[in-house]
Amino acid sequence: MQKRPFATSEKLHEITQEIPTPYHLYDERGIRTTARGLLNAFAWNAGYREYYAVKACPNPFILKILKEEGCGVDCASMAELMLAEACGFSGDEIMFSSNETPGEEYEYARRLNVNINLDDITHIPFLAEHGGIPERICLRYNPGGELRIGSTCMGQPGASKYGMTKQQIFSAVGQLMAMGVKQFALHAFLASNTIENDYYPTNARVLFDLAAELHAALGADFYMINLSGGVGIPYRPEERMPDIQKIGAAVQRAFEEALVPAGLGHVRIATELGRYMTGPNGCLVATAIHKKHIYKEYVGLDACAANLMRPAMYGAYHHITVAGKEDALCDHVYDVVGSLCENNDKFAIDRALPRIDIGDLIVIHDTGAHGFSMGYNYNGRLRSAEVLLREDGSFQMIRRAETVRDYFATFDFCGVMDGVLARAEK
Ligand SMILES: *Cc1c(COP(=O)(O)O)cnc(C)c1O
Repeated sequence: MQKRPFATSEKLHEITQEIPTPYHLYDERGIRTTARGLLNAFAWNAGYREYYAVKACPNPFILKILKEEGCGVDCASMAELMLAEACGFSGDEIMFSSNETPGEEYEYARRLNVNINLDDITHIPFLAEHGGIPERICLRYNPGGELRIGSTCMGQPGASKYGMTKQQIFSAVGQLMAMGVKQFALHAFLASNTIENDYYPTNARVLFDLAAELHAALGADFYMINLSGGVGIPYRPEERMPDIQKIGAAVQRAFEEALVPAGLGHVRIATELGRYMTGPNGCLVATAIHKKHIYKEYVGLDACAANLMRPAMYGAYHHITVAGKEDALCDHVYDVVGSLCENNDKFAIDRALPRIDIGDLIVIHDTGAHGFSMGYNYNGRLRSAEVLLREDGSFQMIRRAETVRDYFATFDFCGVMDGVLARAEK
């Protein structure tokens, strides 16, 4: 099975003439199409909103496209809240699904009057001191144990640091009602990168049942159920994209079975998808700059794990296409590697690819979420540029590449780099 980049080889070469590799390239058309498909799948729910997980691709140009499509944003830090504010998101258009949250971030979130998602019961007095308890609040649930669907284990909530136990949720709702909270929301993130269609409906059912129980036992009212993120994408060519229309319909069935009879038919559904929204709509474009033959065949790129950490961190598969050789026979086997002094800096291991020549443009697929944003500066490697491929075929740099000046900026004050930088830039 084939997986083709969203940009042609000609387009990639055209961009590279102006913006040197490596760069992350994003597909405006793909992002808009994905957003429209998702909103359509949940259109049965009047108040439905997607809160795009900002950490997946924290670029204001991307966030503004999603805003135009009617999405909100999910933030987890001060910087992400500030980015959301700068892009014109406000109040109910923002979820703050943070954990281990500093006091000043809660204070800022309260000033913006966003949806606060409490990760722990001890955050109730903490929030009361840092910004105050709002009239509407969301609670993050962790059912513990394993998430099983049929005979397959999809996730290990019991081993994850997030959320509250069921007992704590009951106690938290009681405490918060006594503190003046009028309406609640529930949130859970039980499995990541699920390409099976039944994850969201299963998660929905867990949260719907809990809301119904809390409503019956404590008289708590609910305004929102937030299914969080976790819908996956087909990184591998043999995998298939989840069917979002089917997923939306199955969540609707669960809603009608569990929430409507409980008197909670007014509740709105929310999602916080990151990967599903932009993952396939981005790629990392790099150049093959070295070839090396020792015990194995290596192709060295001008990009490294600092630009895309997932293969090094998770052993994640990212499909690779050699631009201009899309239909060539994959009759060579390479390790495709970056320059870090870390042997896990490998974008692909033993990958069958067409013959690669020095200078070839290498497209690493599915980097539009948790790609650039996970970048780091190990070995003094710099973050790349980000480029947006517009719907009309034009392209625009939406973030410049880091320079050594950026890298040295935090100790510039002692002047140690001044002479070196001046000579290097001459
Ligand atoms: C990371 C994250 C998301 C997005 O996850 P995806 O796997 O990209 O869908 C949503 N909500 C929260 C709270 C997260 O931490």
